[in-house]
Amino acid sequence: MRCEVVAVGTELLLGQIVDTNSSWIGEHLAMAGINSHFQTKVGDNPERIESALRLALDRSDAVVVCGGLGPTQDDITRDIIARVMGVELELDDTIAERISTMFTSRGREMPANNYRQAEVPVGARTMDQQPGTAPGLVCPVGDKVIYAVPGVPFEMKQMVEGTVIPDLMARAGESAVIGSRTLRTWGQSESGLSEMLAERITQLDDVGNPTIAFLASGIEGLKVRITAKADTDDELQGILAAEEEHLRGIIGHLVFGVDDETMESVVLDLLRTQGKTLALAESVTGGLMAGRLTAVPGASDVFRGSVVAYASEVKFDMLGVDEGPVITEATAIQMAEGAARVLGADVGIGVTGVAGPTEAEGQAVGSVHFAISIDGETVPGFLQLPFGREQIRQFSVISILGELRRRLL
Ligand code: ATP
Ligand code: MG
Repeated sequence: MRCEVVAVGTELLLGQIVDTNSSWIGEHLAMAGINSHFQTKVGDNPERIESALRLALDRSDAVVVCGGLGPTQDDITRDIIARVMGVELELDDTIAERISTMFTSRGREMPANNYRQAEVPVGARTMDQQPGTAPGLVCPVGDKVIYAVPGVPFEMKQMVEGTVIPDLMARAGESAVIGSRTLRTWGQSESGLSEMLAERITQLDDVGNPTIAFLASGIEGLKVRITAKADTDDELQGILAAEEEHLRGIIGHLVFGVDDETMESVVLDLLRTQGKTLALAESVTGGLMAGRLTAVPGASDVFRGSVVAYASEVKFDMLGVDEGPVITEATAIQMAEGAARVLGADVGIGVTGVAGPTEAEGQAVGSVHFAISIDGETVPGFLQLPFGREQIRQFSVISILGELRRRLL
């Protein structure tokens, strides 16, 4: 089964939006074991969309086309698909009804234009998932197929997961279940990690199932994804669990979480289990650490708050830092202890440094002093980060939370 992706939209060609849909679809096709050799971007032009679709159908068994299913003049994907199928469009009453209900339930009148979205090429089937107004379409062309999904990412994702992938797998005569598990790591470079796992990857390449892949996600660390195929879900979970255990034997010290867990959520969970509360004194990160922690639902039972002690006087007056230079280990220690004291927490973190663009107090851009105080016992640390202002701030947050995690364990 070969399937390719055609993304429709002039804005994609002009660089006004980045075509994240194609990469997401590509990733999910690969995970499902479906070959996908081409991805095309094409503007909102009838002839060029038609030729992109015909070319794709020529060399592949299936095509996923995303975008251009909306109600406006330049949304012509469904018209072109009908042309390629050699059929007319006809109004689908059920879809028309569904769209008009969406409008009335929000107290709005439906513009006549939206009826266009209820027009379906004769012989095409609409997808069950319809999170927006545009229906997704399964359009047979001979023994091949075009799947049309909207450009809006969350609508596209629901349809690809709910209809496109299962349909492709059924067409491929594939009854297997596929799933993955992602180990989240921090503290090793991509090349370092792949070196550690090289032998295991070679072993798995010979077997073919499961497979492992690296995904570098910057300030989120490196992800190691295990993907497996099996006949039943039980068997699948068994393979994933066994491989996770194997990998943890090699890189376990670097793994901080699994799947949707983040460094923030993991640290908050650890604090919760140990019955400890957390307070921050942030200078160089200016509240970023607090922002990331409070983005996690349920942070309030652990997280007390943060003093954004940006000006030196705030460090002196509010946190009891000794007057003098403030990008020092001593300042970080006093900030950590001051935060815990002032905000009444068991754990305090202090962070002070130089985010740039210019050096400060004679210290290079990227110098970050921090300290972590747990039940009155304070340990300082130092980071020398090589990146620009925003990365220095972001990397400080995850590095320091990573350090807190290590100390709590
Ligand atoms: P709508 O019904 O909203 O008009 P549509 O199917 O016509 O949906 P488009 O008009 O092509 O889709 O795109 C709608 C929005 O979806 C775009 O403004 C953009 O934000 C997003 N989008 C479209 N194509 C892509 C893509 N390939 N990658 C990422 N986002 C996209
Ligand atoms: Mg549109």
